[in-house]
Amino acid sequence: MKKVLLDLSRGELAALVAAAGEKPFRAGQLFEGLMQGKRLSQIPVSAALRTTLSERYEDEPVKIAETFVSADGTKKFLFALADGNIVEGVLMSYKYGNTQCVSTQVGCRMGCKFCASTLNGRVRDLTAGEILGQILAVNRAEGGTLKERKVTNIVLMGSGEPFDNYDNVVRFLRLVTAEGGIHISARNISLSTCGLVPEMKKFALENIPLNLTVSLHAVTDEERRRTMPIANKYTISEILEACAFYFEKTGRRYIFEYSLIAGENCDEKHALALAALLKGRPCHVNLIRLNEVKERDLKPTSEKEAYRFLGILEKHGISATLRRSMGSDIGGACGQLRARYLEEN
Ligand code: SAH
Repeated sequence: MKKVLLDLSRGELAALVAAAGEKPFRAGQLFEGLMQGKRLSQIPVSAALRTTLSERYEDEPVKIAETFVSADGTKKFLFALADGNIVEGVLMSYKYGNTQCVSTQVGCRMGCKFCASTLNGRVRDLTAGEILGQILAVNRAEGGTLKERKVTNIVLMGSGEPFDNYDNVVRFLRLVTAEGGIHISARNISLSTCGLVPEMKKFALENIPLNLTVSLHAVTDEERRRTMPIANKYTISEILEACAFYFEKTGRRYIFEYSLIAGENCDEKHALALAALLKGRPCHVNLIRLNEVKERDLKPTSEKEAYRFLGILEKHGISATLRRSMGSDIGGACGQLRARYLEEN
């Protein structure tokens, strides 16, 4: 597989341009063109540079293979990578802008019992440019430019565990927040992890103050181990300590994801225990009713019970929201679209 041109920073592109004996302003043209989601053939560089680069680099690492539009306006995308692998993503419209959910790996090896992304394990990591390419392809397809962006917010909540692909994800974050590019502020980016404690601590020192989100889904280590194998490696108390470190270093409050699974984690006692666990911490809880995955036998809790759970947290002073499920008519939970695609093809 050729190297991915979008993996390169503006400085690295400048070095390539200089090595090819081209004028420095070509590097700016190249960077801007690539960030607009253009191919080499659409960017005004010299024929010689175009040839040199296209011999060594893939200039279209991510293609939109299919688009599904939900009744609520949510769009789901199947992206084809240059080696034929498929990943999926979502674009959700809100009052404040459009949020794109991106994948960081083909598949996942974390093995969470409720998640479709992990059904066939991890195939490979995505490079930084393949993660960025998902955003640039959608921004362009939606008619966005670098000034009038159609993607304003990003969540790393598609397939994959971002911190299991740490270096590529950090490189991606530097590229996507870079000035002169699509330039999305770290404050508008959320990264969700199943709780890889050493990487959480390392990330606190990267100076990328995004919204760190941790998938908790349980209130005791014992219960967490039932649905999340990673709980055999790191305890909830180690996770809380890493979150506190993140807050100390970045000043950013952190977020917990808590998917409500019937008969598993959403009784009154769970809500009370969660409130006690998080009391006084600078955090927010995102509740979501489990998205049913047909390959798994776990079921979502009822809407009524979900509101009761939310009410208990609020009564105990915990900042929390119950997220509405969007786009469920076009492929439900994380990884489902790719799973269905693999099944059909
Ligand atoms: N690997 C990262 C990001 C993955 S998915 C992580 O574990 O955080 C983003 C969120 O969706 C995670 O909180 C994940 O636990 C949750 N999730 C996965 N499958 C789900 C399902 N079927 N229903 C509800 N939430 C789900």
